[in-house]
Amino acid sequence: MAVITFDFDDTLTQTRWDHEDECFKFVGPNLLMINRLIENIQKDNEVHVVTSRMGPAMDNQGDPLPGGQPAILPFLREHLGDSIERLAGVHWCAGMKRKKLSELGSTCHFDDDPVELTDLPDNCVGIRVATLHGID
Ligand SMILES: [Mg+2]
Repeated sequence: MAVITFDFDDTLTQTRWDHEDECFKFVGPNLLMINRLIENIQKDNEVHVVTSRMGPAMDNQGDPLPGGQPAILPFLREHLGDSIERLAGVHWCAGMKRKKLSELGSTCHFDDDPVELTDLPDNCVGIRVATLHGID
């Protein structure tokens, strides 16, 4: 059994830059990645969601989320179906994820953020997730 971790924003969700409001707006789930997460649960891997947010409905500074971005738990309940019962955990890091990924023993981490992917624990393979907006 492997420990597989997924970022939340722009990995399990998709956003687009809104020029008028100057923020990223939520446009929907990333179904490709949600299916990847569910597949890993079905393979009996230990799957965690690890986010740089500070809390369920806060960004990494503790501020409310802009652009209609969803709170994590209701989003996962809506999109994972029965698989949510076997999700091993959801973790709020309030910043970089390295320490949490190391504690969990993640062997594979999916993330849209290239900075996170250059700072993974040893023995953790990073997989870059493409975003709709293509902005790093
Ligand atoms: Mg992200």
